[in-house]
Amino acid sequence: MTPEGDLPGIVVTGASGRMGQMLMRLILQSDKARLVGALDREGSDWIGRDVGEAMGGTAVGVTVSDDPVATIARAQAVIDFTSPAATVAYAELTAQARAVHVIGTTGMDQAQLDYLAAAARHAPIIRAGNMSLGVNLLVGLTRKVAAALGEDWDIEVVEAHHRHKVDAPSGTALMLGEAAAEGRGQPLADLRTPAREGITGAREPGSIGFSAIRGGDVVGEHDVIFAGEGERLVLRHLATDRAIFARGAIRAALWGQDKGPGEYDMADVLGLT
Ligand code: NAP
Repeated sequence: MTPEGDLPGIVVTGASGRMGQMLMRLILQSDKARLVGALDREGSDWIGRDVGEAMGGTAVGVTVSDDPVATIARAQAVIDFTSPAATVAYAELTAQARAVHVIGTTGMDQAQLDYLAAAARHAPIIRAGNMSLGVNLLVGLTRKVAAALGEDWDIEVVEAHHRHKVDAPSGTALMLGEAAAEGRGQPLADLRTPAREGITGAREPGSIGFSAIRGGDVVGEHDVIFAGEGERLVLRHLATDRAIFARGAIRAALWGQDKGPGEYDMADVLGLT
């Protein structure tokens, strides 16, 4: 058995968040990685508390910090499900530490993505709008079906998430839209329909539409609808437990340990490319 000290050390950001807590629980149970740090926003009432106690259990010997420089310096990997602004700041420090940065944060704009691309010149960044195996398989299926069906099949991506989600469409919905557009051999930017409201006019042939539902505690549901004349094909993924995202992120952190600088996604991690 590998001595605990040899296991890759992981730092979790957004420690008090829904994904942060799930990640820390799974890393603490894992025999393949160890939790070496937890970061939260300055002013959070979790700062200075033991991770285990803050999550309502017993002490585990890791204290939540608001000092990213000192904390990330201890990491072989940083797993980050926070906000775009926080992720950009963590990316610079993680690249400086030459650690793997696994990013689940969604809702990045182009300037933020450019910043991540610059950081990935120094260390591996693995980023995906959805870290689950099922959704990454769905992405591949969507690409294939879109390529097989002609433009007379209208494509719509419909997603549902819990009431706390702040961005729309979801990162997963955009991944699915990108895959459908790739299947059609065009960039999504050329095919994407703006959100519909009021007198929108008839549907543009070949366009890809997005709809978002927000409510309750829905973990994440995605349908890709291919609507033809007289028939409809629906590809669906239902997430019922956010542990699927956390497990995927931990797998990515371990996979990245022997990889060089660059940008990777879950298709690389899962060997689906
Ligand atoms: P959440 O419960 O709101 O947690 C976010 C955490 O990040 C909180 O601890 C928050 O602290 C912290 N944070 C936000 N802004 C920060 C900043 N500027 N500096 C430092 N910390 C900051 O949200 P969640 O449900 O865990 O989701 C987090 C992100 O992951 C979202 O972008 C979500 O869409 C994404 N997500 C991705 C996947 C995937 O598979 N890729 C799956 C699930 C979720 P405060 O509470 O103090 O703001």
